[in-house]
Amino acid sequence: MVKMTGFIDVADILKGDNEDGAEVKVRGWIYTSRSSGGIQFLELRDGSGVIQCTLNKRNIDAETFSRVEKLPLETALEMKGKVKEDNRAPGGWEIRVNEIGNVYESKLDYPIVKKEQGIEFLMDNRHLYIREPKLQNIFQIRAKFLQAARDWFKENGYTEVQTPMFMTASVEGGSTLFSVEYFERKGVYLSQSWQLYAEALISSLGKIYTIAPSFRAEPSRTRRHLSEFLHMELEEPWSTLSDIQNSGDRLVCHMANTLAEVMPEKVKAVGRDPDYLASLKAPFPKITYDEAVEIVQSKNIEMFWGDDFGWQQEGPLTEEFETPFWVVGYPSGIKPFYHMPDPKRAEVTLSSDLLAPEGYGEIIGGGQRVHNYEQLYQRTLDDGLDPANYAWYMDLRKWGTVPHSGFGLGVERVLMWMLKLDHIRDTVPFPRDMRRVYP
Ligand code: ATP
Ligand code: MG
Repeated sequence: MVKMTGFIDVADILKGDNEDGAEVKVRGWIYTSRSSGGIQFLELRDGSGVIQCTLNKRNIDAETFSRVEKLPLETALEMKGKVKEDNRAPGGWEIRVNEIGNVYESKLDYPIVKKEQGIEFLMDNRHLYIREPKLQNIFQIRAKFLQAARDWFKENGYTEVQTPMFMTASVEGGSTLFSVEYFERKGVYLSQSWQLYAEALISSLGKIYTIAPSFRAEPSRTRRHLSEFLHMELEEPWSTLSDIQNSGDRLVCHMANTLAEVMPEKVKAVGRDPDYLASLKAPFPKITYDEAVEIVQSKNIEMFWGDDFGWQQEGPLTEEFETPFWVVGYPSGIKPFYHMPDPKRAEVTLSSDLLAPEGYGEIIGGGQRVHNYEQLYQRTLDDGLDPANYAWYMDLRKWGTVPHSGFGLGVERVLMWMLKLDHIRDTVPFPRDMRRVYP
């Protein structure tokens, strides 16, 4: 065995960075292996990609050949060999191995096998299952998605901030609050949204955003709710409902177009045609809440004016569309107290949710906020909340209060739709829901 240095990433080989026949060193984990007629085929996974490596009895000493043949799956090892363009190999390139470096041998019987395994088993073994190339692709896309968002925010003059995760008041209603033991103190919860703090910070920083976890004790099992999700929220002073819709249109299109441009193969491998993401353009269509209710009712699905959309309604409604679309003007009764009532029609708010097509449903919730002190006071009472719990928040309305708007985007919801996944869980390495906080 020789000490090897100068390793390169599998991704660089797959990109064609090395000439046919060039000598390279790679290291990674054995993802699959099989042997036939004096040749071994290993698929090596290094975090950047997966490449086929072949060992031929004629090019490598017998001892190394038989040692590698016995290595269990997920053994990590270093190899040196020549790259060859070969269209029979997945990815179009292979490495013809002529030397082995360090070997970190696995135990026998790696629990994740190629044949169908039940979802519960795979979730119990999530710490290993996250090595699967499909999940690896999704997580790489997720990282690029967040980077694209930050680029857009920077380009458009927003400042990133972080707000507390420990809070003393509810933002999105009491039913999904997680209580925490906070020293001796009662009435402390995990954040459902940055909303209250964001409205304080716009008077300090102007346009702001955050990308941070939000926690919701979602009592039902659905394909699109997690109890911990990544929340991308923005808030703008001097901004109206239509301004914020415009920001949402441009942000979502920028992220979709970027993924199509920089990782089309990964997007495709996960299950979405990248041309679809490339084709999305601002602005997205808008319909009113009233029109949305009529569409749902016309499909003989039960819904009354004033109800919120559940998945039974959102699914069929969004199947009517090919791009995301805004539903505008939700009734006051189904939006939190800080949403501004429509001055022309008090029973609805200046709010709007962006719904993804193909049955995916809500990906953004937002709107214009109440900036008048008396009106906000009344709205807390109407919502059955104790204004005393929101004293500092209401205080903001006394000191230079201006029209302002914002929204929250669910990172996992958007990824689920953009990648055409049928469950939200695979957009996160270790999903948290009602039944699962392990591993
Ligand atoms: P829903 O009606 O789907 O539960 P919501 O109205 O509670 O959503 P908001 O409070 O407006 O959602 O939150 C803003 C965004 O955060 C939503 O549009 C969605 O993308 C995302 N989101 C909300 N709750 C969850 C959750 N439990 N899991 C994942 N994403 C969520
Ligand atoms: Mg909810």
